[in-house]
Amino acid sequence: MLTAERPKTAPTRRETMLIGSEWLAAADGRTFFVENPAKRDSAIAEVPRAGAADVDRAAQAAAKAFETWRTTHWKDRARALYAIADGVEARLEELARTLSSETGNALRTITRAEVRGAVDTFRYFAGVASEVKGETVPLGPGLLSYTLREPFGVVGAIVPWNVPITISAWKIGPALATGNTIVLKPSADAPLAVLELARICAEHLPPGVLNVVTGLGEECGAAIAEHPLVRKLSFTGHTDTGRSVMRAAAERIVPVSLELGGKSPQIVFPDSNDDRSVDGVIAGMRFTRQGQSCTAGSRLFLHESIADDFLAKLAAKLSKLRIGDPLDETTDIGAIASKRQFEKVCGYIADGADQKGAKVIAGGTPPSRGPLAEGYFVQPTVIAHVANDWRIAREEVFGPVMVAIPWRDETDAIRMANDTHYGLAAYVWTRDIGRAIRTAHALDAGFVQVNQGGGQLPGQSYGGFKQSGIGREVSLEGMLESYTQRKAVTISLA
Ligand code: NDP
Repeated sequence: MLTAERPKTAPTRRETMLIGSEWLAAADGRTFFVENPAKRDSAIAEVPRAGAADVDRAAQAAAKAFETWRTTHWKDRARALYAIADGVEARLEELARTLSSETGNALRTITRAEVRGAVDTFRYFAGVASEVKGETVPLGPGLLSYTLREPFGVVGAIVPWNVPITISAWKIGPALATGNTIVLKPSADAPLAVLELARICAEHLPPGVLNVVTGLGEECGAAIAEHPLVRKLSFTGHTDTGRSVMRAAAERIVPVSLELGGKSPQIVFPDSNDDRSVDGVIAGMRFTRQGQSCTAGSRLFLHESIADDFLAKLAAKLSKLRIGDPLDETTDIGAIASKRQFEKVCGYIADGADQKGAKVIAGGTPPSRGPLAEGYFVQPTVIAHVANDWRIAREEVFGPVMVAIPWRDETDAIRMANDTHYGLAAYVWTRDIGRAIRTAHALDAGFVQVNQGGGQLPGQSYGGFKQSGIGREVSLEGMLESYTQRKAVTISLA
């Protein structure tokens, strides 16, 4: 959580940001505070509030570094990424604890795994750095025509607060492997672990190849999107913000990749009314990361013949999850990331629960007293008997709130699942292989899973349909599509 006001408890850390080879304060000396979401009004760090002048310095540094990084041999770029992976792995615990402190995500269930995900991502992109290849084009016997894949130059990367290290790695890895340089902005709600990551990266990269500027979205993020030296934009965040980044990209005709929001369906068929599927549905909803995931399967379509029984099992399992201090090893579910987000989530719960016929079968509006009221804690919440056109079923809550919608006919379930302006993830639960594949193919989503609720893994092309985004990440194809441009060279053999 961020604030410009000095909080009641003074911060213990004062940060600087990475521009070129230097660790700097903002040019105008402004700062903001990062707060601990598990303990209201306690600041953990004071961070530079970068503005347009700082972004300009970072973009200049990145453009200068590009002159040599673009022709650096892929073996050396890969070596740097492997070294970064090793450095992150060596400091896994430290990074995970920082992530838990600033995001509210639980150490045992979420943040250690997040850092491991970043390590895997850096190793993956080090491994595919040699794959930046072109094709030969058969234009006729008198011509030799071939393509090259070249980097764009300076990439402007903007990441959200929910998975800061992994999403940064999804952008830094492929951008650097292909010879681009980067100006990266973490969210002002969670910049600390990304700054620690930047320190590790800086040990293994030439100055200016990676620059990290900390600031607010509308100041620092917008300045990156608008900067003339930034030749490619890669954004992860809210659909509305993505729209404004795309507008800025349109002004300068620069390519843009957008990873945006979701309201993903989970369809459960009658043959999957079992514990394994209930556990999978809980994983798919990302309840242990407080539902703060773009791929959260937050619309649960249950066949009417099993709905009551499945929901009873779901509620029983959710009641066993322990909510509390993100750094406590016994905690399953941490805190919502910020006051702003907490209030938004509570508003959605109140609105959904108030609808005629709605039934809250787990969680509900958070307690206003007791230990959970000390931070931004929300219990896993399931609202049943919801109609697919209610606000709670259409808008992304980005919190631990799932709606259950009954269905009778398979075609109708698929129609309702696809009746959304989002199209990021989807989950299908059935033992019938034909039905599973048929349903997976019928769903309008970029990332479909059958009988599992896992996260994105390096190598899988990841990205959304419809308003969930443009472009793909986390894979070789994503790297080539998003971080290189083709050049055609044709030579006369006459
Ligand atoms: P936001 O869009 O608010 O923020 C994302 C990033 O954009 C932050 O760094 C933010 O800075 C910055 N930003 C805000 N305003 C601007 C602007 N005008 N110009 C440029 N940058 C700006 O999203 P949230 O942080 O609230 O993240 C939640 C959203 O992200 C959800 O909708 C979620 O679905 C989506 N998301 C998507 C993922 C995907 O892969 N598809 C993965 C993770 C999240 P600051 O925070 O400092 O204001």
